[in-house]
Amino acid sequence: MKEKIIKIIDNLNDNGKINKKEILLLLTNLCDSENTKLSKIEIESLQEYLREKAYIKSHKIFGNKVYMRGLIEFSNYCKNDCIYCGIRKSNKNAQRYRLSKDDILECCDEGYKLGFRTFVLQSGEDMFFTKKRIVDITSSIKNKYPDCALTLSIGEKNYDYYKAIKESGVNRFLLRHETSTEEHYNKLHPKELLLKKRLECLKIIKELGFQTGTGIMVGSPFQTINNITNDLIFIKKLKPEMIGIGPFLPHEDTPFKDKDKGSINTTLILISILRLLFPFALIPSTTALGTISKNGRERGILAGANVVMPNLSPLSVRKKYSLYNDKICTDEEAMEGLELLRAKMLAIGYEITGERGDHIKHIFKQ
Ligand code: SAM
Repeated sequence: MKEKIIKIIDNLNDNGKINKKEILLLLTNLCDSENTKLSKIEIESLQEYLREKAYIKSHKIFGNKVYMRGLIEFSNYCKNDCIYCGIRKSNKNAQRYRLSKDDILECCDEGYKLGFRTFVLQSGEDMFFTKKRIVDITSSIKNKYPDCALTLSIGEKNYDYYKAIKESGVNRFLLRHETSTEEHYNKLHPKELLLKKRLECLKIIKELGFQTGTGIMVGSPFQTINNITNDLIFIKKLKPEMIGIGPFLPHEDTPFKDKDKGSINTTLILISILRLLFPFALIPSTTALGTISKNGRERGILAGANVVMPNLSPLSVRKKYSLYNDKICTDEEAMEGLELLRAKMLAIGYEITGERGDHIKHIFKQ
């Protein structure tokens, strides 16, 4: 079996090829200790073999650069009731806030001075931000900072809305599909939220020419190895430019408060597989990864990730954007947080760069 797994990893590394059966075999043996005949030592050495291939691949393309994106969490109002999420609408303990356009521009100003050339605006699905209001904000940012890339992560919208923000200059859009298995999707979301709708949104986003990001929470309640296999097949078909995956972490005010956290190991294994599948992809080492383990973000980079997303939101609201318990970096100034992260990356031989870091296919389209 060990040889078979090595062959799968080699083929993925050399030719970027892997089929569904091989993914299932790889994940069962590397991530599911109950269903493998391999010994612990064999599993660990295979995990390291995969990680090393991904690390080398990432290094060949990006060198020791890690791209930074300035995250601005501009509203935690949300009309949705995703069962896992701390800002779900029925969480009455969430202290809601919404930044004004001026607040958002101030965050960009601070970020620009610190060297950020990508801003990521994320929020709950806040109906206050109509197409007109959001376009006013995005076009102001693009006018003020024409040299910066702008990413939105604001959920499911209709075609006209996505088109308007694209025309206002937004370059990238993040919309994790969360899980591509309908039965699983329905266990994580209330009945009015449909996987079909989310996937249609992703299709529109891709067609409109955004650099498109998708992804999953690893170890979300009820997730199986089969589900993750389907997710990798889905991602393979979509060919996103960005792939965000992080462990599921419970939030105390949600029905999933007693569910287990996702596994850091499985998250790292998936990052490595994704790096080999998509050598040029922008893959963040997520805040959730940094929350689950003190050196989680470093381990993400060493497994093949190449992006970090420090928080630029005002300190006064940071704790309120609470998706899960114990989220890191909620009480550091942006400057302080960035310097700490820079030092952490330097310690593993990486340098944080302020470059925009567009996907190679889009560099010449700007
Ligand atoms: N509303 C937008 C959307 O739906 O895409 C963006 C905001 S949403 C809070 C951003 C991401 O946070 C989700 O796609 C989900 O994967 C992640 N998230 C939410 N709750 C989480 C939790 N408990 N643990 C880990 N990640 C979580």
